[in-house]
Amino acid sequence: MNGHDLGSRPWVTFDMDNTLIQSPYWRLHFRPWLEAEAQRLGTDYRSLWRHFHQRSEELWRRGRWVDSFDWPAIAEHLGLSRVPEVRVSSPKPVRALVPTGVEAMLWSLRQLNVRLAIVTNGFWAFQYPYLKALGWPYLLDAVITPDRIGAAKPNPAIMVPVSPGLIHVGDRLSHDVLAARRSGRKSALVGPSSEHDHIDPLMPANLEPDWIINDWRHLPQIVASML
Ligand SMILES: [Mg+2]
Repeated sequence: MNGHDLGSRPWVTFDMDNTLIQSPYWRLHFRPWLEAEAQRLGTDYRSLWRHFHQRSEELWRRGRWVDSFDWPAIAEHLGLSRVPEVRVSSPKPVRALVPTGVEAMLWSLRQLNVRLAIVTNGFWAFQYPYLKALGWPYLLDAVITPDRIGAAKPNPAIMVPVSPGLIHVGDRLSHDVLAARRSGRKSALVGPSSEHDHIDPLMPANLEPDWIINDWRHLPQIVASML
């Protein structure tokens, strides 16, 4: 352990959807349900999704950040059918959503004197079944979800259980990079995202990540250089 106390190892944290995995809840569970529901109502899923999006933004603007990610509760509010619970019968379709190089990168980080966690705005019941199917609970020291912590990114309160933090890696400026900045850690942005949803009134006009990750092999080098 390089003479370090186990408890002092800093955290390297990741967003889940569109960072480590291509949104399994949306692709394998929620969108198929939305499509069936839309068909039942004689509409299309994109129109139906707009109602979810509107309600979610409304809750967000009222400061109900955690509730804004509670899709089954929003479905109930909209008078729709019940969204069923996630049940993953095979890891295969989940594994197909993991980008090349992600698992090798996580295993490389495991060799370093850091702890690894996912910090997602998706609820535990929507996210953990997919992580379990991938066997990732063995790779990760924690999975942080807003329903369990009572806060959502970019509120830095969600980062408290994973402090001290070295770096947070994610695909959204207004969630991931901002939460990293506010919780006193470095940030890395994955992919081409340049979105500013400005939904957080205190979002700075110019927010830049410390790194942009185009190749997962670079991240262990970046983390090693910070230790
Ligand atoms: Mg994401």
